[in-house]
Amino acid sequence: MIFDNLNIIEPILRALKTEGYTTPTPIQEQAIPILLKQRDLLGCAQTGTGKTAAFAIPILQLLYQDRLQHKEQKTIKALILTPTRELAIQIDESFAAYGRHTGLKHLVIFGGVSQNPQTDALRRGVDILVATPGRLLDLMNQGYVRLDHIRFLVLDEADRMLDMGFVHDVKKIIAKVPSRRQTLFFSATMPNEIQQLANSILSNPEKVEV
Ligand code: AMP
Repeated sequence: MIFDNLNIIEPILRALKTEGYTTPTPIQEQAIPILLKQRDLLGCAQTGTGKTAAFAIPILQLLYQDRLQHKEQKTIKALILTPTRELAIQIDESFAAYGRHTGLKHLVIFGGVSQNPQTDALRRGVDILVATPGRLLDLMNQGYVRLDHIRFLVLDEADRMLDMGFVHDVKKIIAKVPSRRQTLFFSATMPNEIQQLANSILSNPEKVEV
């Protein structure tokens, strides 16, 4: 299997070549076709499996195709929630790398730093927002972030988000996201609590385990 066989559009294929990727990892091979069909996904996968590209590539592709049809600009269309600043930065860098030829705007926000550069960037307009839950909720409560045009919601490392005590923040955020959306839920482990959260936010998901 090579990336060329996954129906990925040329601007993204070109970026993957620049990254030196030739062969999709197992989670990419399984998840990309499901996500391009606009289905919800429950992914059981650890970091290191290539799961970031597995969700970033289809999101970039579907948003790029929307943009070609001149759909809604300058509103947040994809939200990726992740537990830590380090993961958030890595995910944002992945969107930057794979999306370099798409013209889509991405931003990462996390706590522990001044919010001014983040709110300035939000004001300029963002297509894809990567965030840790605490800072996002904070900025939402101050009126800097609106989630009513979200088309893609990704929960990354859901088990760690719960372990870190973010469950209430995550639920408050999800309550503000339109229910008509594509939802992607990733967790390394699937204890009952995680399974319940997944069931409550996913709609008829396909399951992928690596
Ligand atoms: P992740 O599991 O998303 O944190 O990715 C783990 C690492 O694998 C990252 O450094 C990626 O750049 C790299 N990677 C992801 N997909 C591929 C691929 N198809 N070929 C080569 N490297 C990859």
